[in-house]
Amino acid sequence: MDWSHVKVTALDQATRDEGGDGRSAKDVFHATSNPGCVAFTYEDIILMPGHINFPVHEVDLTSQLTKKIKLKAPFVSSPMDTVTESNMAINMALQGGIGIIHSNMTIEEQASEVNKVKKFKNGFITDPACLKPENTVGDVIEIKKTLGYSGIPITTDGKIGSKLLGFVSARDIDFIDEPTTPLSTVMTTDVVTGTEGCSLEEANQILRGSKKGKLPIVDPNGNIVSLIARTDLHKARDYPNASREQKNKQLLVGASIGTRPADKDRAKALVDAGVDVIVIDSSQGDSVFQLDMVQYLKKTHPDLEVIGGNCVTCSQALHLIEAGVDGLRVGMGIGSICTTQEVCAVGRAQGSAVYHVARFARKFGVPILADGGIQSTGHITKALCLGASCVMMGSMLAGTEEAPGEYFFQDGVRLKRYRGMGSIEAMSKGSEKRYVWGDDAIQVKVAQGVSGSVVDKGTLRRYIPYLCQGVRHGMQDAGVKGLDMAWERLYSGDLRFEIRSPAAQKEGGVHSLHNYSKRLY
Ligand code: NAD
Ligand code: IMP
Repeated sequence: MDWSHVKVTALDQATRDEGGDGRSAKDVFHATSNPGCVAFTYEDIILMPGHINFPVHEVDLTSQLTKKIKLKAPFVSSPMDTVTESNMAINMALQGGIGIIHSNMTIEEQASEVNKVKKFKNGFITDPACLKPENTVGDVIEIKKTLGYSGIPITTDGKIGSKLLGFVSARDIDFIDEPTTPLSTVMTTDVVTGTEGCSLEEANQILRGSKKGKLPIVDPNGNIVSLIARTDLHKARDYPNASREQKNKQLLVGASIGTRPADKDRAKALVDAGVDVIVIDSSQGDSVFQLDMVQYLKKTHPDLEVIGGNCVTCSQALHLIEAGVDGLRVGMGIGSICTTQEVCAVGRAQGSAVYHVARFARKFGVPILADGGIQSTGHITKALCLGASCVMMGSMLAGTEEAPGEYFFQDGVRLKRYRGMGSIEAMSKGSEKRYVWGDDAIQVKVAQGVSGSVVDKGTLRRYIPYLCQGVRHGMQDAGVKGLDMAWERLYSGDLRFEIRSPAAQKEGGVHSLHNYSKRLY
C-alpha cells in the first residue's frame, strides 16, 4: 500500500494551531510563546510521534563532533577522572564515538594515555600488568585476585616499554608455597615473542604454534610494547563504525585542558602525542582566559580541532565562535554530580540550553555537544532532536568496565565510583589548582560537585550498541531518518513537542506496579 499521500502538511491548519499535533520547538521555547520564561529539561519535554516510512535500521546516526570530525555514533565520554582514560577512549572510538581523556594527571601521563589510543591495534593489549624480577610470587597472586589473570611479563623496571627479561604464568607458580619467592627464580626466560608491527593474524599463528596462552610483542631492542592473549583472540573483530583518521586509520581521540598558562604546554604535549581534538574544560567558557586559549590553540596548532565551553547562552557561544572554536560544549549546572546551580546560582535547564545555542551556532556551522544530564536513550534522542550534534556523558558511562577504577559491592549491588571534577575528592587529587590562585591567600576550596557511585553497566561493547539502537527507535518513532532530517523538521516546525506536567512525567515512567525489574537490554 502506498501511504506517500500521508503528509504532515496535509493536516488541517486549524487543528495544528489548536495544538492537536503538539507544538513546534519555536512555540515551546521562544519568548513570544513562552512569556513566563520557563526553562525546560529533557524530562519536561516529550516528542510527538511522526509518520514512519522506513525500517529502524535505516536511521543514520552519523553526526559532526566538530567542523571537521564526523562520528558514526554521536556519543562522547566526558573528560572526568572516573570516566575517560585510554581504555574508555579506545572502546568509545571502536564503537563509533570518541573519548576525551581527562587532565587530572600530569602532562606526561595524559600524553601517554593519548598515545595509547593512537597506537592501539585491535587485539593487542598495550598496557598489560608487568612485574620486575625482584617481585614475588605473592605479587602475581595479588594480580590474579584483582585483575583476574596470572600471565605476567617480567621487565627490568616492571613496566611496559622496557626490556623483556622473562614471563611468569600460572603453571610457573602453581606448586610454590612460599609467596616471598622472587620471580627471577621461577620465570621462564626462553620467551616466545612476536615482533612489533606484526599483524593480528601473524601473532595468532605464532601463538598457535607455541601453544602458549600469551604472546609478548617486542620492539627491535627487546622492549615489550604489547601483549596478545589467546583468550582475547576470538573477541578481536572488525569494528566497521570505528572513528578513525582518514590518513593513517588510527583511532580518533580527544583530551581536555584548562585555561591556565601551563595548559599551553599540556596542549603541545597532547598534539605531539597525536590528539585529534582538544576540549577546553570549564564550567563557564565565556572568559578572557578561554577566549585567549582558543585563539592561541588555533594559531599555534592550525590542524587541531578545538571545542570550547561550556556555554548555555547565545552570547557566550558567539564569543567562543568569534575566537575560533570548531565545536561548542553546552551544559552548565546540570550534570548528575553537579552542585553548580546550588552553589553558584548560575546555569540553565539543559533542554532550553541545547535548543537555543544549537539554533544560534548553526548559523556559523558550529556543531553542539550536549554535555551532561543524560539519563537514558530517550534523553539522547531529545538532545539530538533539539539540535545537538553529539552528546557527552559521564554517569551513563562511569559504570562500564572500560571506565577507570575497580568495581565494589555495596548492599549487594556492583558499583563503580563516579565523582565530579569539581568535587573535593577530585580537587584533592590535582584539579584544585583551578580553584586557588596566589601563594599567600588563605586557600578556600568551593566544591561544585559531589562524589558517589554508579551501578555496573557491563562492557561498552554491548552498551554502546544498545544506546545506538535505542536512539534509532526513538528517531524512527519521531518519523526522522537521521539528524539532518530531524533538524530540517525542527526548524521548519514539523517536528512537534509538548511539555509534560509533573503528573505526565510520572505517567510516562513505570507506575502502578508492586515491584518490577528493569533490564535495559
Ligand atoms: P576552570 O578552570 O574554568 O575555573 C576555575 C577557576 O579558575 C575560575 O574561577 C576561573 O575563572 C579561574 N581561572 C581559569 N583560568 C584562569 C587564568 N588563566 N587566570 C586566572 N584565573 C583563571 O574550572 P571550573 O569551571 O571550575 O571546572 C572545573 C571542572 O569541573 C571541569 O572539569 C568542569 O568541566 C567541571 N565542572 C563542570 C560544570 C558544568 O556545569 N558543566 C560545573 C562545575 C564544574
Ligand atoms: P553527567 O553525564 O550528567 O554525569 O554529567 C557529566 C558532566 O558534568 C561533565 O561532562 C561535566 O560537564 C560536568 N561536570 C563534571 N564534573 C563536574 C563537577 O564537579 N561539577 C559540576 N559539573 C561537573
